[in-house]
Amino acid sequence: MKILVTVKRVEDPEAKIKVKPDGTGIVTEGINYKVNPFDEIAVEEGLRLRDAHGGEVVIVSCGSEASTTEVRSALAMGADRGILVKTDQTLDPDAVARILVKLVEQESPDLVIMGKQAVDDDQNQAGQRFAQYMGWGQATQASKRANLESEDEKARKPGLVISGETVEVTREVDGGLEDVRLKLPALVSADLRLNLPRYASLPGIMKAKKKPFQNLTPEELGVDITPKITAKRFLSPPMRQAGEMVPDVPTLIKKLAEEAKAI
Ligand code: AMP
Repeated sequence: MKILVTVKRVEDPEAKIKVKPDGTGIVTEGINYKVNPFDEIAVEEGLRLRDAHGGEVVIVSCGSEASTTEVRSALAMGADRGILVKTDQTLDPDAVARILVKLVEQESPDLVIMGKQAVDDDQNQAGQRFAQYMGWGQATQASKRANLESEDEKARKPGLVISGETVEVTREVDGGLEDVRLKLPALVSADLRLNLPRYASLPGIMKAKKKPFQNLTPEELGVDITPKITAKRFLSPPMRQAGEMVPDVPTLIKKLAEEAKAI
């Protein structure tokens, strides 16, 4: 079983993001970067599946040299080898999808697991575009299997069920869950409740330094990464007004009715 998992280097979601005064982007000085949180969940799921079925987990990231750190983080969690498709150009989700198509042609994985979205641009497109280009089935927003009973099972067992040539996935949909079955190879994207990713152990971090790591470029893969989408301008959200304390409920109701016109 070969499982390919994508990881994107993103700004730490806890960081306080400021827009540059000219609106061309965000201020990156002093910002910490980390693996996109949904991708950590994708890595964890890949590791659980590998441990249950054998095989290997291959990590792929596309971006600048700095993304080496995020690939190594996934290797430290337990993945087997890493690939960085190196470019300093801004990548839109379609370029990422087309890079993955080329890699998948080379690697022939049984399953590709991605995060449901990258929390920097919130595009939620790369996986769907990739599956469409490949002509594969896709199950987005994979969640935890409903029939995992004990806490111990939830902590260890994969949420995806692989049997023979198929994978069963529980998806998060509006107002509930949906179980689907896909023919392999397939694309699955991980949602928040699929699992709780492990922390890398110290031995894991040491071992990661020696794991196979391949550097490629979009040119070597023959992919034109000219973006189809370009961000025209970034704006900060409006400043929130300071709250106001009111002495009692009747005053609150009066203000909500007369000033806020909310009731
Ligand atoms: P997006 O469509 O940009 O919201 O991203 C969806 C998922 O695609 C992410 O959770 C990642 O797993 C993957 N992805 C997007 N951009 C990259 C990238 N530059 N390198 C690796 N994976 C990526």
